[in-house]
Amino acid sequence: MKAYTTPDLMNMLRQLIARPSMSSVSPSFDVSNREVIDLLAGWFEALGFTVEIIPLLKQPHKANLLATIGPVQDKEKNRGLMLAGHTDTVPYDEKFWHHNPFQLTEQDNRLYGLGTTDMKSFFALIIEAVKRFDASRFKQPLVILATADEESTMEGAEMLLQRMCPPVRCAVIGEPTGLKPVNTHKGISMHGIRLIGQGGHSSNPALGLNALEYMHQVLGELLDWRMDLQRRYRDEQFAVPVPTLNLGHIHGGDNPNRICDQCEVHFDMRPLPGMDIDALREELHVRLKKALNSTGVNWTLFPLIHGTPPMHTPIDSPIVRSCEHYCHAPAHAVAFCTEGPYLTQLGIDTVILGPGNIAQAHQPDEFLELSNIQPCVDILSELIAEYCL
Ligand SMILES: [Zn+2]
Repeated sequence: MKAYTTPDLMNMLRQLIARPSMSSVSPSFDVSNREVIDLLAGWFEALGFTVEIIPLLKQPHKANLLATIGPVQDKEKNRGLMLAGHTDTVPYDEKFWHHNPFQLTEQDNRLYGLGTTDMKSFFALIIEAVKRFDASRFKQPLVILATADEESTMEGAEMLLQRMCPPVRCAVIGEPTGLKPVNTHKGISMHGIRLIGQGGHSSNPALGLNALEYMHQVLGELLDWRMDLQRRYRDEQFAVPVPTLNLGHIHGGDNPNRICDQCEVHFDMRPLPGMDIDALREELHVRLKKALNSTGVNWTLFPLIHGTPPMHTPIDSPIVRSCEHYCHAPAHAVAFCTEGPYLTQLGIDTVILGPGNIAQAHQPDEFLELSNIQPCVDILSELIAEYCL
Protein backbone atom coordinates (compact mmCIF):
# COMPACT_ATOMS: atom_id res chain seq x y z
CA MET A 1 0.00 0.00 0.00
CA LYS A 2 1.36 3.39 -0.98
CA ALA A 3 1.88 6.09 1.66
CA TYR A 4 -0.14 9.25 1.04
CA THR A 5 -0.31 12.64 2.59
CA THR A 6 -3.75 14.00 1.79
CA PRO A 7 -6.04 14.62 4.78
CA ASP A 8 -8.73 12.09 5.65
CA LEU A 9 -12.13 12.25 3.98
CA MET A 10 -14.09 14.32 6.53
CA ASN A 11 -11.23 16.75 6.78
CA MET A 12 -11.17 17.18 2.99
CA LEU A 13 -14.94 17.68 2.83
CA ARG A 14 -14.74 20.25 5.62
CA GLN A 15 -12.06 22.22 3.79
CA LEU A 16 -13.87 22.11 0.43
CA ILE A 17 -17.13 23.39 1.94
CA ALA A 18 -15.32 26.09 3.95
CA ARG A 19 -14.03 27.76 0.78
CA PRO A 20 -16.74 29.84 -0.94
CA SER A 21 -16.84 29.34 -4.72
CA MET A 22 -20.23 30.71 -5.81
CA SER A 23 -20.47 31.66 -9.46
CA SER A 24 -23.17 33.87 -10.84
CA VAL A 25 -23.81 36.13 -13.80
CA SER A 26 -24.73 38.79 -11.18
CA PRO A 27 -21.37 40.26 -10.12
CA SER A 28 -22.59 40.84 -6.54
CA PHE A 29 -22.91 37.06 -5.96
CA ASP A 30 -19.85 35.97 -7.93
CA VAL A 31 -16.57 34.90 -6.30
CA SER A 32 -13.44 33.16 -7.58
CA ASN A 33 -13.13 29.35 -7.42
CA ARG A 34 -9.37 29.66 -7.02
CA GLU A 35 -9.21 28.63 -3.35
CA VAL A 36 -10.93 25.32 -4.16
CA ILE A 37 -8.66 24.77 -7.18
CA ASP A 38 -5.52 25.43 -5.09
CA LEU A 39 -6.72 23.02 -2.41
CA LEU A 40 -7.33 20.28 -4.99
CA ALA A 41 -4.00 21.02 -6.70
CA GLY A 42 -2.17 20.38 -3.42
CA TRP A 43 -4.02 17.14 -2.72
CA PHE A 44 -3.59 15.69 -6.21
CA GLU A 45 0.08 16.70 -6.27
CA ALA A 46 0.57 14.85 -2.98
CA LEU A 47 -0.82 11.74 -4.69
CA GLY A 48 1.73 12.02 -7.51
CA PHE A 49 -0.48 13.64 -10.16
CA THR A 50 0.90 16.18 -12.63
CA VAL A 51 -1.27 19.21 -12.01
CA GLU A 52 -2.03 22.02 -14.41
CA ILE A 53 -3.99 25.09 -13.31
CA ILE A 54 -5.53 26.84 -16.32
CA PRO A 55 -6.88 30.37 -15.70
CA LEU A 56 -10.04 31.25 -17.63
CA LEU A 57 -9.49 33.57 -20.59
CA LYS A 58 -12.24 36.09 -19.82
CA GLN A 59 -12.02 35.75 -16.01
CA PRO A 60 -8.35 35.09 -15.19
CA HIS A 61 -9.05 35.14 -11.44
CA LYS A 62 -10.91 31.82 -11.94
CA ALA A 63 -9.37 28.58 -13.16
CA ASN A 64 -9.84 24.98 -14.31
CA LEU A 65 -7.61 22.22 -12.99
CA LEU A 66 -6.36 19.23 -14.96
CA ALA A 67 -4.52 16.56 -12.96
CA THR A 68 -3.04 13.51 -14.70
CA ILE A 69 -1.39 10.33 -13.47
CA GLY A 70 -0.33 7.21 -15.33
CA PRO A 71 1.36 6.82 -18.72
CA VAL A 72 0.08 9.12 -21.46
CA GLN A 73 0.94 8.14 -25.00
CA ASP A 74 -0.68 8.89 -28.29
CA LYS A 75 -4.39 9.57 -27.78
CA GLU A 76 -5.45 6.52 -29.74
CA LYS A 77 -3.51 4.28 -27.38
CA ASN A 78 -5.05 5.54 -24.18
CA ARG A 79 -8.07 3.86 -22.77
CA GLY A 80 -7.84 5.60 -19.43
CA LEU A 81 -10.52 7.48 -17.55
CA MET A 82 -11.46 11.06 -16.76
CA LEU A 83 -13.29 11.92 -13.55
CA ALA A 84 -14.74 15.39 -13.80
CA GLY A 85 -16.81 17.98 -11.99
CA HIS A 86 -17.28 21.66 -11.33
CA THR A 87 -15.80 23.49 -8.36
CA ASP A 88 -18.28 26.36 -8.25
CA THR A 89 -21.63 26.39 -6.45
CA VAL A 90 -24.75 28.46 -6.92
CA PRO A 91 -25.16 31.51 -4.67
CA TYR A 92 -27.14 30.95 -1.45
CA ASP A 93 -29.79 32.87 0.44
CA GLU A 94 -28.72 32.96 4.08
CA LYS A 95 -32.22 33.57 5.48
CA PHE A 96 -33.43 30.17 4.27
CA TRP A 97 -30.48 28.20 5.67
CA HIS A 98 -30.67 26.57 9.11
CA HIS A 99 -26.99 25.59 8.93
CA ASN A 100 -23.88 27.56 8.15
CA PRO A 101 -23.45 26.98 4.39
CA PHE A 102 -19.65 27.06 4.75
CA GLN A 103 -19.35 24.77 7.75
CA LEU A 104 -19.72 21.06 7.14
CA THR A 105 -22.36 19.90 9.62
CA GLU A 106 -23.11 16.25 10.27
CA GLN A 107 -26.67 15.62 11.45
CA ASP A 108 -29.25 12.84 10.93
CA ASN A 109 -26.84 10.83 8.75
CA ARG A 110 -26.46 13.79 6.43
CA LEU A 111 -23.65 16.22 5.68
CA TYR A 112 -24.99 19.76 5.33
CA GLY A 113 -23.22 22.56 3.48
CA LEU A 114 -23.20 24.51 0.21
CA GLY A 115 -21.70 22.26 -2.46
CA THR A 116 -21.99 18.99 -0.50
CA THR A 117 -24.20 17.48 -3.21
CA ASP A 118 -23.58 19.83 -6.14
CA MET A 119 -20.76 18.93 -6.21
CA LYS A 120 -17.54 19.67 -4.36
CA SER A 121 -17.72 16.46 -2.29
CA PHE A 122 -17.14 14.39 -5.42
CA PHE A 123 -13.48 15.47 -5.55
CA ALA A 124 -12.81 14.20 -2.02
CA LEU A 125 -14.44 10.87 -2.93
CA ILE A 126 -12.20 10.61 -6.02
CA ILE A 127 -9.18 11.04 -3.74
CA GLU A 128 -10.46 8.36 -1.39
CA ALA A 129 -10.77 5.99 -4.36
CA VAL A 130 -7.32 6.87 -5.76
CA LYS A 131 -5.72 6.24 -2.36
CA ARG A 132 -6.67 2.57 -2.70
CA PHE A 133 -4.22 2.18 -5.62
CA ASP A 134 -0.52 2.32 -6.22
CA ALA A 135 -0.77 4.74 -9.13
CA SER A 136 2.75 3.84 -10.32
CA ARG A 137 1.16 0.59 -11.52
CA PHE A 138 -1.41 2.36 -13.72
CA LYS A 139 -1.11 1.25 -17.35
CA GLN A 140 -3.55 3.90 -18.56
CA PRO A 141 -3.97 7.53 -17.51
CA LEU A 142 -6.39 8.77 -14.88
CA VAL A 143 -7.31 12.41 -15.53
CA ILE A 144 -9.12 14.67 -13.06
CA LEU A 145 -10.89 17.71 -14.45
CA ALA A 146 -12.20 20.41 -12.09
CA THR A 147 -13.90 23.31 -13.85
CA ALA A 148 -15.04 26.85 -13.05
CA ASP A 149 -18.34 28.59 -13.80
CA GLU A 150 -20.57 25.59 -14.55
CA GLU A 151 -23.40 27.30 -12.66
CA SER A 152 -23.09 30.56 -14.60
CA THR A 153 -21.22 31.20 -17.87
CA MET A 154 -19.92 27.66 -18.66
CA GLU A 155 -16.63 29.38 -19.56
CA GLY A 156 -14.59 26.66 -17.85
CA ALA A 157 -16.11 23.89 -19.97
CA GLU A 158 -16.02 25.98 -23.12
CA MET A 159 -12.30 26.61 -22.67
CA LEU A 160 -11.73 22.87 -22.90
CA LEU A 161 -12.88 22.95 -26.51
CA GLN A 162 -10.13 25.43 -27.38
CA ARG A 163 -7.39 23.28 -25.85
CA MET A 164 -5.77 20.03 -26.81
CA CYS A 165 -8.02 17.12 -26.01
CA PRO A 166 -7.33 15.30 -22.73
CA PRO A 167 -5.78 11.92 -23.61
CA VAL A 168 -8.73 9.69 -22.68
CA ARG A 169 -11.76 8.21 -24.42
CA CYS A 170 -14.26 8.21 -21.59
CA ALA A 171 -15.33 10.26 -18.59
CA VAL A 172 -17.61 10.25 -15.58
CA ILE A 173 -18.99 13.57 -14.31
CA GLY A 174 -20.00 13.32 -10.64
CA GLU A 175 -23.15 15.45 -10.68
CA PRO A 176 -25.79 14.22 -8.23
CA THR A 177 -27.67 11.32 -9.82
CA GLY A 178 -28.22 9.18 -6.72
CA LEU A 179 -25.42 6.88 -7.96
CA LYS A 180 -27.41 5.89 -11.05
CA PRO A 181 -25.81 6.39 -14.47
CA VAL A 182 -27.16 9.00 -16.88
CA ASN A 183 -26.23 8.87 -20.57
CA THR A 184 -28.45 11.59 -21.98
CA HIS A 185 -30.00 14.95 -21.17
CA LYS A 186 -31.69 17.81 -22.99
CA GLY A 187 -29.93 21.09 -23.71
CA ILE A 188 -31.04 24.60 -22.81
CA SER A 189 -31.02 27.99 -24.47
CA MET A 190 -32.63 31.30 -23.47
CA HIS A 191 -33.42 34.07 -25.91
CA GLY A 192 -35.13 37.41 -26.06
CA ILE A 193 -36.96 39.09 -28.95
CA ARG A 194 -37.17 42.88 -28.85
CA LEU A 195 -39.52 44.86 -31.06
CA ILE A 196 -39.15 48.59 -31.52
CA GLY A 197 -42.02 50.40 -33.20
CA GLN A 198 -43.10 54.00 -33.01
CA GLY A 199 -44.95 55.67 -30.12
CA GLY A 200 -47.80 58.12 -30.64
CA HIS A 201 -51.20 59.32 -29.46
CA SER A 202 -53.60 56.39 -29.17
CA SER A 203 -56.42 58.31 -30.85
CA ASN A 204 -54.82 57.86 -34.26
CA PRO A 205 -53.12 54.51 -34.93
CA ALA A 206 -51.53 55.95 -38.06
CA LEU A 207 -49.29 58.09 -35.84
CA GLY A 208 -47.25 55.09 -34.67
CA LEU A 209 -46.23 51.51 -35.08
CA ASN A 210 -47.58 49.38 -32.26
CA ALA A 211 -44.87 47.03 -30.93
CA LEU A 212 -47.39 45.20 -28.72
CA GLU A 213 -49.54 44.33 -31.70
CA TYR A 214 -46.55 42.99 -33.63
CA MET A 215 -45.57 41.03 -30.52
CA HIS A 216 -48.92 39.30 -30.80
CA GLN A 217 -47.75 38.10 -34.21
CA VAL A 218 -44.35 37.04 -32.78
CA LEU A 219 -45.99 35.00 -30.01
CA GLY A 220 -48.14 33.23 -32.59
CA GLU A 221 -45.01 32.51 -34.60
CA LEU A 222 -43.24 31.05 -31.53
CA LEU A 223 -46.18 28.80 -30.66
CA ASP A 224 -46.51 27.59 -34.26
CA TRP A 225 -42.78 26.88 -34.36
CA ARG A 226 -43.01 24.95 -31.08
CA MET A 227 -45.82 22.80 -32.48
CA ASP A 228 -43.76 22.17 -35.61
CA LEU A 229 -40.65 21.18 -33.57
CA GLN A 230 -42.69 18.87 -31.35
CA ARG A 231 -44.04 17.15 -34.45
CA ARG A 232 -40.53 16.74 -35.89
CA TYR A 233 -38.63 15.64 -32.75
CA ARG A 234 -39.52 13.07 -30.13
CA ASP A 235 -37.48 10.94 -27.71
CA GLU A 236 -39.36 8.55 -25.42
CA GLN A 237 -36.43 8.28 -22.98
CA PHE A 238 -37.46 11.63 -21.51
CA ALA A 239 -40.35 12.20 -19.10
CA VAL A 240 -41.31 15.10 -21.39
CA PRO A 241 -40.53 13.38 -24.70
CA VAL A 242 -40.60 16.49 -26.90
CA PRO A 243 -38.50 19.68 -27.09
CA THR A 244 -40.09 22.46 -25.03
CA LEU A 245 -40.32 26.21 -25.50
CA ASN A 246 -41.53 28.28 -22.55
CA LEU A 247 -42.67 31.89 -22.79
CA GLY A 248 -41.34 33.19 -19.48
CA HIS A 249 -41.34 36.98 -19.49
CA ILE A 250 -42.88 39.80 -21.44
CA HIS A 251 -42.73 43.53 -21.08
CA GLY A 252 -44.03 46.26 -23.30
CA GLY A 253 -45.46 49.76 -23.33
CA ASP A 254 -46.28 52.11 -20.48
CA ASN A 255 -49.67 53.68 -20.96
CA PRO A 256 -53.11 52.61 -22.25
CA ASN A 257 -53.46 55.78 -24.28
CA ARG A 258 -50.05 55.74 -25.91
CA ILE A 259 -49.14 53.55 -28.92
CA CYS A 260 -46.71 51.00 -27.53
CA ASP A 261 -43.26 51.69 -28.96
CA GLN A 262 -41.30 48.79 -27.48
CA CYS A 263 -42.02 45.21 -26.42
CA GLU A 264 -39.75 42.36 -25.38
CA VAL A 265 -40.37 38.65 -24.75
CA HIS A 266 -37.98 36.14 -23.10
CA PHE A 267 -38.27 32.38 -23.58
CA ASP A 268 -36.27 29.23 -22.95
CA MET A 269 -35.93 26.15 -25.12
CA ARG A 270 -34.93 22.64 -24.13
CA PRO A 271 -33.83 20.78 -27.26
CA LEU A 272 -33.54 17.00 -27.46
CA PRO A 273 -30.28 15.22 -28.34
CA GLY A 274 -29.72 15.59 -32.08
CA MET A 275 -31.03 19.19 -32.15
CA ASP A 276 -28.43 21.92 -32.62
CA ILE A 277 -28.91 25.18 -30.70
CA ASP A 278 -27.30 27.36 -33.40
CA ALA A 279 -29.35 25.74 -36.16
CA LEU A 280 -32.52 26.28 -34.13
CA ARG A 281 -31.75 29.95 -33.67
CA GLU A 282 -31.17 30.28 -37.40
CA GLU A 283 -34.49 28.55 -38.13
CA LEU A 284 -36.33 30.97 -35.85
CA HIS A 285 -34.50 33.90 -37.37
CA VAL A 286 -35.75 32.94 -40.84
CA ARG A 287 -39.34 32.67 -39.54
CA LEU A 288 -39.19 36.07 -37.84
CA LYS A 289 -37.67 37.67 -40.91
CA LYS A 290 -40.57 36.41 -43.00
CA ALA A 291 -43.14 37.58 -40.47
CA LEU A 292 -41.70 41.01 -39.65
CA ASN A 293 -39.42 42.34 -42.36
CA SER A 294 -42.13 44.07 -44.39
CA THR A 295 -43.82 45.64 -41.34
CA GLY A 296 -41.40 48.47 -40.60
CA VAL A 297 -40.98 47.33 -37.01
CA ASN A 298 -37.39 47.04 -35.83
CA TRP A 299 -36.64 43.63 -34.34
CA THR A 300 -33.76 41.67 -32.80
CA LEU A 301 -33.41 38.07 -31.62
CA PHE A 302 -30.67 37.80 -28.98
CA PRO A 303 -29.31 35.13 -26.58
CA LEU A 304 -29.82 35.72 -22.83
CA ILE A 305 -27.32 33.02 -21.78
CA HIS A 306 -24.71 30.98 -23.49
CA GLY A 307 -26.81 27.84 -24.03
CA THR A 308 -25.79 24.27 -23.21
CA PRO A 309 -26.19 21.64 -25.92
CA PRO A 310 -28.02 18.37 -25.28
CA MET A 311 -25.89 15.33 -24.38
CA HIS A 312 -26.15 11.81 -25.68
CA THR A 313 -23.69 8.96 -25.13
CA PRO A 314 -24.67 5.77 -26.97
CA ILE A 315 -26.06 3.11 -24.68
CA ASP A 316 -23.55 0.54 -25.99
CA SER A 317 -20.53 2.72 -25.18
CA PRO A 318 -18.12 0.81 -22.88
CA ILE A 319 -18.27 3.48 -20.15
CA VAL A 320 -22.09 3.34 -20.09
CA ARG A 321 -21.94 -0.47 -19.82
CA SER A 322 -19.32 -0.31 -17.03
CA CYS A 323 -21.28 2.25 -15.00
CA GLU A 324 -24.49 0.24 -15.37
CA HIS A 325 -22.62 -2.84 -14.18
CA TYR A 326 -21.03 -1.27 -11.09
CA CYS A 327 -24.17 0.69 -10.16
CA HIS A 328 -26.55 -2.24 -10.77
CA ALA A 329 -28.83 0.22 -12.56
CA PRO A 330 -29.67 0.96 -16.21
CA ALA A 331 -28.56 4.25 -17.77
CA HIS A 332 -31.36 6.80 -18.03
CA ALA A 333 -32.21 10.33 -19.11
CA VAL A 334 -32.46 13.39 -16.83
CA ALA A 335 -33.97 16.84 -17.19
CA PHE A 336 -30.98 18.90 -16.00
CA CYS A 337 -27.96 20.09 -18.02
CA THR A 338 -24.28 19.35 -17.37
CA GLU A 339 -20.82 19.93 -18.84
CA GLY A 340 -21.12 16.50 -20.50
CA PRO A 341 -21.81 17.77 -24.05
CA TYR A 342 -18.52 19.71 -23.99
CA LEU A 343 -16.64 16.46 -23.28
CA THR A 344 -18.58 14.46 -25.88
CA GLN A 345 -17.68 17.16 -28.45
CA LEU A 346 -14.04 16.27 -27.70
CA GLY A 347 -14.78 12.65 -28.56
CA ILE A 348 -14.92 11.57 -24.91
CA ASP A 349 -17.84 9.23 -24.12
CA THR A 350 -19.38 10.66 -20.96
CA VAL A 351 -21.65 9.35 -18.23
CA ILE A 352 -23.14 11.50 -15.47
CA LEU A 353 -22.91 9.58 -12.22
CA GLY A 354 -22.44 10.90 -8.71
CA PRO A 355 -23.57 10.82 -5.09
CA GLY A 356 -26.50 12.82 -3.75
CA ASN A 357 -29.80 13.74 -5.28
CA ILE A 358 -30.47 16.59 -7.70
CA ALA A 359 -33.48 17.52 -5.51
CA GLN A 360 -31.01 18.74 -2.87
CA ALA A 361 -28.99 20.80 -5.33
CA HIS A 362 -29.54 24.57 -5.53
CA GLN A 363 -31.59 24.37 -2.29
CA PRO A 364 -31.21 25.87 1.18
CA ASP A 365 -29.79 23.30 3.62
CA GLU A 366 -28.16 21.36 0.78
CA PHE A 367 -26.99 17.99 2.07
CA LEU A 368 -25.36 14.74 1.06
CA GLU A 369 -26.58 11.45 2.53
CA LEU A 370 -23.72 9.76 4.39
CA SER A 371 -24.98 6.46 3.00
CA ASN A 372 -23.95 7.55 -0.54
CA ILE A 373 -20.29 8.02 0.31
CA GLN A 374 -18.95 4.48 0.61
CA PRO A 375 -20.83 3.10 -2.43
CA CYS A 376 -19.57 6.03 -4.51
CA VAL A 377 -15.94 5.43 -3.50
CA ASP A 378 -16.43 1.73 -4.33
CA ILE A 379 -17.87 2.48 -7.80
CA LEU A 380 -15.05 4.93 -8.56
CA SER A 381 -12.47 2.35 -7.43
CA GLU A 382 -13.97 -0.27 -9.72
CA LEU A 383 -13.94 2.13 -12.67
CA ILE A 384 -10.33 3.10 -11.98
CA ALA A 385 -9.34 -0.57 -11.73
CA GLU A 386 -11.08 -1.39 -15.02
CA TYR A 387 -9.86 1.59 -17.03
CA CYS A 388 -6.43 2.41 -15.58
CA LEU A 389 -4.83 -0.84 -14.38
ZN1 LIG B 1 -23.76 20.68 -10.60
